[in-house]
Amino acid sequence: HAKADGKNAYRLYNKEMNQQASERVALQADLRKALDLHQLHLMYQPKFDAQTGGMIGVEALIRWQHPERGLIPPARFIPLAEESGAIQAITEWVLRTACKQAKIWYETSSFPISVAVNLSAYSLKRNNAPIMVQHALKETGLPAHLLELELTESMLIENDQHAEETLNDLKQLGITIAIDDFGTGYSSLSYLHRFPIDALKIDRSFVWNMNRSDSDLAIVVAIIAMAHSLKLKVVAEGVETKAQLAALQKSGCEIIQGYLLGRPTTAEDITIQLKRMAS
Ligand code: C2E
Ligand code: MG
Ligand code: MG
Ligand code: MG
Repeated sequence: HAKADGKNAYRLYNKEMNQQASERVALQADLRKALDLHQLHLMYQPKFDAQTGGMIGVEALIRWQHPERGLIPPARFIPLAEESGAIQAITEWVLRTACKQAKIWYETSSFPISVAVNLSAYSLKRNNAPIMVQHALKETGLPAHLLELELTESMLIENDQHAEETLNDLKQLGITIAIDDFGTGYSSLSYLHRFPIDALKIDRSFVWNMNRSDSDLAIVVAIIAMAHSLKLKVVAEGVETKAQLAALQKSGCEIIQGYLLGRPTTAEDITIQLKRMAS
């Protein structure tokens, strides 16, 4: 019976939605305690000079080791943290932890490497990012030019006047600013030019297809050319194959990141790689 089926489908749908909602509430409650319980940690993914192959920096990527659910990726819990407001404390912790670690590398390694932190839209909207960054730099003593912030185009488009002021305040501190996942957010480079930006990270969806699709290759080549004309550096993310690497080198991309050259790893492992570079 069509009517009965419809009713059952509705009940099922409702039940599933309720389950999702209560799971969200449960995760949010756990997330509030995660920092105090030391369940959050950072992995570091290296970035390499496309020409020399030397490591020039790392990107901090957060992980949540949940006692029952196992390892939870950021895509799963950062939106929940934004919704509950927990993102505030988490961002402060990420900044402090990443800067502290980068200061250790700065003091112990013969190669200066930068550390990049992903900023959530919430922190930009609340305009507290400059204060948080200033605190982290002061507390850890990391030279400002070794800290990079990664933010997405959509964060700028949503609130451009306010975002412009916040980015100018951040830039005043002497840090570097990069646009993450570039090419996915429908903004033009000329529009982005009003913001004090140092680098573009080409989204990995374009990198992924550049050897199979002429149009994706054309997009990558065009982004690199335009970025250079605006004096921006270009980072390619998600580089997984030698063919991608070769095409990017040929197009003049300066910085390479991806599984081909280095997966996200522990701070200890980065330290070992730095020692190997020195010898
Ligand atoms: P993102 O900043 O664009 O980071 C790149 C993501 O791609 C990372 O996933 C990284 O592990 C993955 N990746 C790197 N190289 C490759 C590759 O060659 N192939 C493939 N398939 N993937 C690659 P992850 O660590 O799961 O992070 C996902 C997103 O979560 C990040 O995207 C970033 O937007 C966000 N995120 C991570 N850490 C933080 C944080 O501390 N705070 C905030 N607000 N967001 C964070
Ligand atoms: Mg990033
Ligand atoms: Mg990215
Ligand atoms: Mg991404």
